[in-house]
Amino acid sequence: MVAIIVHGGAGTIKKKERIPKVLNGVREAVLAGWKELKRGSALDAVEEAVKSLEDNPLFNAGTGSVLTLDGRVEMDAAIMRGKTLDAGAVAGIWGVKNPISVARKVMEKTDHVLLSGEGAVKFARLLGFEEYNPVTDERLKQWGELRKKLIEKGETRHWKKLNELITEYPEVLRSTVGAVAFDGEEVVAGTSTGGVFLKMFGRVGDTPIIGGGTYANEVAGASCTGLGEVAIKLALAKSATDFVRLGMNAQAASEAAISLATKYFGRDTMGIIMVDSHGNVGFAKNTKHMSHAFMKNGMNEPEVGV
Ligand code: ASP
Repeated sequence: MVAIIVHGGAGTIKKKERIPKVLNGVREAVLAGWKELKRGSALDAVEEAVKSLEDNPLFNAGTGSVLTLDGRVEMDAAIMRGKTLDAGAVAGIWGVKNPISVARKVMEKTDHVLLSGEGAVKFARLLGFEEYNPVTDERLKQWGELRKKLIEKGETRHWKKLNELITEYPEVLRSTVGAVAFDGEEVVAGTSTGGVFLKMFGRVGDTPIIGGGTYANEVAGASCTGLGEVAIKLALAKSATDFVRLGMNAQAASEAAISLATKYFGRDTMGIIMVDSHGNVGFAKNTKHMSHAFMKNGMNEPEVGV
């Protein structure tokens, strides 16, 4: 039994015309991963699926990443292998096209788990990742508009108000990407993001935190999306795999993980995708939308939804 599921972020998609494009993006990504999965590697499948989403400017990862309060792109990504617990991550990286591939290199080429900021950029260059500008015109425009709204409200220093902002401006939670796959032997999970729109300089979310936004072990894997601070405080990706260890399948565990997030932090905070080592997929959210797509043995076409 093999399976792969991807997500394109939890939040609210305000413009309805965006939905078919987003669904097409997650569909393409799951098919890119599926191709690799059929060759036998969940690790390659997750990397390829996430790269496909990073390269699609609709999503908030790689090209199209959102900007920080001070107008920079600082991207986070992580990948983890369930069989060996090998993990690699980058936090606050810039100037590269595919942070998920840099994260994989951290896992494979170093003794470390997480490289951040300038060190992560330096490492990427040493490994031959070329200089790349992931900022798109659309994101720059959105950044300008959102920042203007905040300034008009006298809220440039909203450092304690991110939750309120999300209710008022749901676009601050936006289209992070992730993938989880099982190749019959191993579960692998990966996540990549530009983070939360208008995040503080230097802020690191849940995505590159092993156990927070990304986790895999021998029973299951999980990739989270939503308000990163929530997933970090609940160690949500790891907690979700614990639910599988205690007997739930990937779907029940996803729902249990999201119930936890809702119980502690309210609605409109989190989404999750999972695969367990029986090849079951799971997904749940307490936001209005979370685009996703999955493929399993016996399916000819991906199932997609938002
Ligand atoms: N979880 C991401 C972060 O907090 C954002 C998102 O999923 O949209 O950085």
